Amino acid sequence: MHIRIIRGQNQIGGNIIEVSTESTKIILDVGIELDEKIPDVPLVNGLFQGEANYNAVLISHYHGDHIGLINNILPNISIFMGEKAYNVYKTSMEYLNNDTVEISNFFRSEKEFYIGDINIKPILCDHSAFDSYMISLFSKNKKILYTGDFRASGRKSFYSLLKRLDKVDVLITEGTTLSRENFYSYTEKDLEKNAVETIQNNNYPVFVLMPSTNIDRIVTFYKVAIKTNRIFLQDTYMASITAIAGNNIPNPKDFKNVRVFLTMPSNKNYEILKSYRDKKIGRKGIAKENFIMCVRSSMKSYLEKLSNEISFNGGILFYSMWKGYLENEDMSNFIKFMENKGVETVYLHTSGHADVNAIDNLIKRTEPKYIIPIHTENSKWFEKYKNCEIIYDNQFNF
Ligand SMILES: [Zn+2]
Ligand SMILES: [Zn+2]
Repeated sequence: MHIRIIRGQNQIGGNIIEVSTESTKIILDVGIELDEKIPDVPLVNGLFQGEANYNAVLISHYHGDHIGLINNILPNISIFMGEKAYNVYKTSMEYLNNDTVEISNFFRSEKEFYIGDINIKPILCDHSAFDSYMISLFSKNKKILYTGDFRASGRKSFYSLLKRLDKVDVLITEGTTLSRENFYSYTEKDLEKNAVETIQNNNYPVFVLMPSTNIDRIVTFYKVAIKTNRIFLQDTYMASITAIAGNNIPNPKDFKNVRVFLTMPSNKNYEILKSYRDKKIGRKGIAKENFIMCVRSSMKSYLEKLSNEISFNGGILFYSMWKGYLENEDMSNFIKFMENKGVETVYLHTSGHADVNAIDNLIKRTEPKYIIPIHTENSKWFEKYKNCEIIYDNQFNF
């Protein structure tokens, strides 16, 4: 088998990996680089330009640094990913009026299938994107495991995942947190407990800044709302995502204390809001309740109007996403805006990525002969594994 890292080596994000045999060519992930405004599409013949020359593209999860170039894949190449992941992705894109590719090939966890002479086994894993997969590839007695992005600190048991992994020849693993000093990953349960402790004794407004596609985090703050007797407020965008994610995910249609509000009036959005019937809530209604409201930096003018109905003074804004987004001007302006209204910002977040223990456990379990680090700025970390060779080249035959 042959592996070629087209992009994503020695950097975090933008993964594009080719795995091939003599007769089959597969791509794992088609990411854009983090924070890229205009995507740079690598000149890959047969994938993004020229005549289609790949059997399939397998996408581990819906973060932009893994899926961002999906619209650039040449027609006639089959695309596979998790079905729920695709539905969340598609709903999000449609809501934002972006184009999406239709796909009809979906992973089912641990259901094997063949692409040419490569046996594929997707394995559901925990990450800050819903319905994420590791991907195992097997051909002619050679086995590769590609981790995508994963963590051990979510609600899914990492140990039960480890038990289901086999020994491999090549491990292509992420190492996002290896360049972060003293990285410690809190669990979603830790976050829940801290948030409850922070707000349980007050009746002030509580806001949460988090990505609407981080379904695990939505569950965490929903649980916080239940434990502190607050209603949980989602705007129409988040509500459309939680609705498609499935019945056990808190959404306004199926959960009694989840309500939906609208920040961007338009005919289309009014229609969406109307479909929620008695689960919709306006600013005057919100002002009468104890609540946790999920917000985004684009909601300033809505929150300005809401602050005319209810004082935010003494309130809390949980900042529950990667600290790097604070450098974004919209984000820092939003936080200043909330602080000017008397809202205290509390950082409460845990990464979607594996810490050193999780990576170590994965390596001990899969006993790779070769490790290809990807999605990391510290590949040297892997050198402590003396029983395997660390591959730094972007091409590898085995
Ligand atoms: Zn990633
Ligand atoms: Zn990711």
